[in-house]
Amino acid sequence: MEKSLTDERFLLLEDNLKKVRDEIAQTALKSGRNPDDIKLMAVTKTVCPELINHAISCGVDLIGENKVQEVLAKKDELNLETCKLHLIGHLQSNKVKKIVGIADMIQSVDSFEIASQISKRSEENGIVTDVLLEVNIGDDDCKFGYSAQDVEEELCKIAQLRGVKVKGMMTVAPNFKDSVKNQSVFANMRKLFIDISAKKIDNISMDILSMGMSGDFKEAIAEGSTLVRVGSAIFGERKY
Ligand SMILES: *Cc1c(COP(=O)(O)O)cnc(C)c1O
Repeated sequence: MEKSLTDERFLLLEDNLKKVRDEIAQTALKSGRNPDDIKLMAVTKTVCPELINHAISCGVDLIGENKVQEVLAKKDELNLETCKLHLIGHLQSNKVKKIVGIADMIQSVDSFEIASQISKRSEENGIVTDVLLEVNIGDDDCKFGYSAQDVEEELCKIAQLRGVKVKGMMTVAPNFKDSVKNQSVFANMRKLFIDISAKKIDNISMDILSMGMSGDFKEAIAEGSTLVRVGSAIFGERKY
């Protein structure tokens, strides 16, 4: 019997997933790290629920989406009993109330204003929302996130909010085509992460350093990433 297109896509996904997992483990070992200390997030933007559910059935237990609208459109079709969902894209004020209580974490907090709104909405819902601070470590004009020198002061302010809990930091490196350059950007991020951790700011924990995507997750792991966000290397090139 001929294989359907769906079967092909499922097989390719299984293959890709295995490769990515192997590369993560190998890179961790090479960097003197425990592979278990690196969490794999499958980034599912533009991917259909059927394929996402197949990834979940292959053991993916964390997915990331960029857009609130897309999360809302897909979530009822996703088998999320064993899988967490994080928002990783810029969040606009008018979408806060739609995503609080739905996303298990918001990795893209980039202003006190948005943190306050997430906190307020969370308190209204009787929950605390886990968040990461997004840092624009490469000082890229096109990217969201705090500059490195603003992070500490912002953290101290956000730590006062009762409806959010800061768990760490996230960054998107600027050089899509140059993973070697990105490694030095990740090295700067690691320094910042260590500095901030050492300050032991009340009410926040620095458990998660979210950095590394399909093109540069190995460099990110070498520089201490604890969570890599991998899309196209798992699901193939995105078709918008
Ligand atoms: C799309 C996206 C990713 C994954 O990108 P790939 O290059 O496909 O792995 C990771 N992080 C963020 C914030 C993204 O928007």
